Parts: sequence; C-alpha cells; structure tokens
Amino acid sequence: MKNTSKLSYHLGELRGVYLRKSDDGYSLSHAGERIVRFLLSENYEQPESLGPEPVDGVCVFCGEEALEAKLSHQFFRIDCTACEKQVTGQPITPAQVRTRDGESLVRSVKLRSAEDARQIRREMCPECGAHLSADVIGVPESPLPDADSFVVTSTCEECLREYNSPLTYSVVSHPASVAFHWNRGIDVTARGLWEFHEYLYEGRWTSEQTASDPNEYVVVLRHGEDAVRLYLDSTATVVRTERVRSDSGEFRHS
Ligand SMILES: [Zn+2]
Ligand SMILES: [Zn+2]
Repeated sequence: MKNTSKLSYHLGELRGVYLRKSDDGYSLSHAGERIVRFLLSENYEQPESLGPEPVDGVCVFCGEEALEAKLSHQFFRIDCTACEKQVTGQPITPAQVRTRDGESLVRSVKLRSAEDARQIRREMCPECGAHLSADVIGVPESPLPDADSFVVTSTCEECLREYNSPLTYSVVSHPASVAFHWNRGIDVTARGLWEFHEYLYEGRWTSEQTASDPNEYVVVLRHGEDAVRLYLDSTATVVRTERVRSDSGEFRHS
C-alpha cells in the first residue's frame, strides 16, 4: 500500500485479535498466523478430484477386496464396490492433494489418520489441541462385525469435533500393540484404518465388556498363534496389557 495513513488505519483495525503491536512494529497473533498460513496454503480452495482408484484392503462389512478411493468434498473416501457401503472417510486438505499424487497421497492419508489416532488416544484434539473426553458406547445393532460392537466417542468441548472409532482400533497405536505388531513385521503406525478391516472382519481383533459400574473392557489383537490383550477403563484408557503366547500358555504382564 502506497498510502501510509490507509495502511496504518487497516493495521489498527487488525490489532487485538490478529496483530500485536510492540516497539519493533507489528507481529501476528495466534489467530493472525493461523489465517495467513491458511491463505498461503490455499486451503480454502476445492481439492482437485481423484479417482475412483482401487486401493488395497478388504471391506469391513462384506470381506470383499473391492475397495475404491475418491475425494468427496473435504474427505478422502473409500467405498466398497461389492456391497456399496462407505468403508472409511478421512479428512483431507486441498494442499495435501495439490502437492502429491496417487500413491503418495494415499500414504499421506494413512499418516494423518495414524497421527490423529495417536493424539485422540491421549485425549488431545488433533484439530485444536484441547482436551477430549472419551466414552465407550455399546452398539449391538452396529453394521460392524460382531467381533467389535463397541465404539469410542471422543468429543472436543472447544471446537465441537467428534471422533468415533471401533474400540479395537482405538488401541492400535498403544505401545503394546505397536511393539507386538512390529515384532511380527507389521508397522501399524504406517497403516490406514481401512487396512485394519480384515482383522476385524475375520474376528482376529475382538472387544468385550468385562465389568460394569464402572465399565471395563478388554481388546484382544491376535496374530498367528499369539495375541496381545489390552484392558481398558470406562474412558477407553488402557490400564494394563498382557501378551499371550499359545505355545507356552504363559502370560507376560506389563
Ligand atoms: Zn463390502
Ligand atoms: Zn478441538
């Protein structure tokens, strides 16, 4: 702006919420910085279209390997072409789509969902950083396989985001699960949620309520003959874990 009095008028208007003034001049506030980065990344644009493209994994509802990914508004969405149900929907940003293609875009969706899951498990809202309160809800009529009829609902009181996940998936990023799978050649931290569906569909991952008032649950993640058990309280917090080896019949507590 050439007109300096106009400039100082506009800077003055932005003071408080968006700008801070000190002896050195103006600097961005938290809100100002968020908005500038939002504008620079052009995340107000519509993401470019993608797909439908086939992706690996099986449908959690019918077990078919018939998954297709596409973008639907702000979501990366996977549908099953066999039973025509939506299998997953993960938030995606226009910048995420603009700077990647095909496989690397899918990888970024997996990474984001794994990172989000890790934060949600530790009761932190990935959107705004506020504390989340979690509840376990029984859904006997759920279309999910019988292996897991519980859903964890985590609600952010600040930005009103709500996160839902099958109880079994909510513990996948727990260190006991990460280590158990890592020892068997699986990096669960690099997997997309839809890549866990086969474990649920085949009943290798299960959940069960073990006590009420207060409610307690156990999730069992099996691999081959071995398993890891994660015991949870009513807020879906893991309170104890145990490895089970079928050959020795021994438990290892931690
Ligand atoms: Zn299906
Ligand atoms: Zn939030």
